[in-house]
Amino acid sequence: MWKEYNKVSNLISAAALKGLDVSASSVVGKSRSEWFETVHQLIGPYDMAKDFKDLSCVDFNTYPSWSLDWFCKQGYGALVKHRWRGLPVQLNTIVKEIHYTSQDKVEIETSKGKLNPRKCIVTVSNGILASENIKFFPKLSEEKVEAFNKIKMGIYNHVAGLFEEKFFREIGMEEMDMYLYYKISGSNISPRGMGCLMNISDSNLCYFDYGGDFAKELENEGEAVQKSFTIEQLKSIFGSKIDKYLLKLHATQWGKNKFTLGSYASADPGFAHLRKYLKMPVEDKIFFAGEATAFEYASVSGAHRSGVRAADKVIKTLNF
Ligand SMILES: Cc1cc2nc3c(=O)[nH]c(=O)nc-3n(C[C@H](O)[C@H](O)[C@H](O)COP(=O)(O)OP(=O)(O)OC[C@H]3O[C@@H](n4cnc5c(N)ncnc54)[C@H](O)[C@@H]3O)c2cc1C
Repeated sequence: MWKEYNKVSNLISAAALKGLDVSASSVVGKSRSEWFETVHQLIGPYDMAKDFKDLSCVDFNTYPSWSLDWFCKQGYGALVKHRWRGLPVQLNTIVKEIHYTSQDKVEIETSKGKLNPRKCIVTVSNGILASENIKFFPKLSEEKVEAFNKIKMGIYNHVAGLFEEKFFREIGMEEMDMYLYYKISGSNISPRGMGCLMNISDSNLCYFDYGGDFAKELENEGEAVQKSFTIEQLKSIFGSKIDKYLLKLHATQWGKNKFTLGSYASADPGFAHLRKYLKMPVEDKIFFAGEATAFEYASVSGAHRSGVRAADKVIKTLNF
């Protein structure tokens, strides 16, 4: 599998290095390797939340190789809550309009009334920005709006499964945080299979992950179908012993989540050059942060760093 993985990822990188901002599908073709479908799932839907037809070679290739994921057993939300304890945060407040015509302040209309800060950092997803659920007055530049629409949200969903502890011994998986790869069958535009991360932080939880058009299809069919497809795949890998050890499943539906409208963003083929517009401030009053504006896009670390970058810029413009 890794031979095929290296071959396919090298083809994508080679196109990017030649400056060809084309789709990954146009450079990898359809390999005859029996591992191609799995490799497509890993590089496209599992990593980028997009199928090869929707994946820009250039955008893919800008992702830094040094970016690493680590697990937080208590959940990332718990980590953020603890790290920033004491910071005044107002939750459950929906921003509807942002007016930036006034010289020395921004007017923000929210579900809980008006705010009048001197500066504003916008961190909502490109899905929300493209949907224009938040209205800007005056309108943002054409480049920015095009960037929100072309650095498009992909779909990536977890189906999380909780197992009896014995299950991992029974399948000979003694270590935690193991990726499991299997041959995904078929030859589809969007691979009909899942990425598997087993026994996360020794919690007996596993993630079975779907991305791209197939994730969207499953999500649209509903949680029952997301779960039943996962059970079917698990049975094809482990046999019917799954019934004995699987305690429960839960599926995410990020495409339908009205506060993200997708999972994370990446460029449509031909539009990687628009990324630079995402983080450009507007009149030194409105600043933009969030994963899509980050070098390490599609990650919590990138989102975090982008917030620090935007806050630094705000401080500079405030002339303390
Ligand atoms: C299934 C899945 C698995 C992932 N796994 C990983 C992983 O293993 N490692 C990793 O690093 N990253 C992972 N990511 C990516 C990571 O979660 C995102 O990149 C990151 O959370 C983005 O953070 P953000 O602050 O930019 O945006 P968000 O987390 O989307 O924050 C934006 C906030 O704005 C709020 N909002 C929206 N509209 C409004 C409005 N009108 N008014 C006020 N507030 C509003 C939203 O509710 C949200 O809280 C994963 C993503 C998904 C979907």
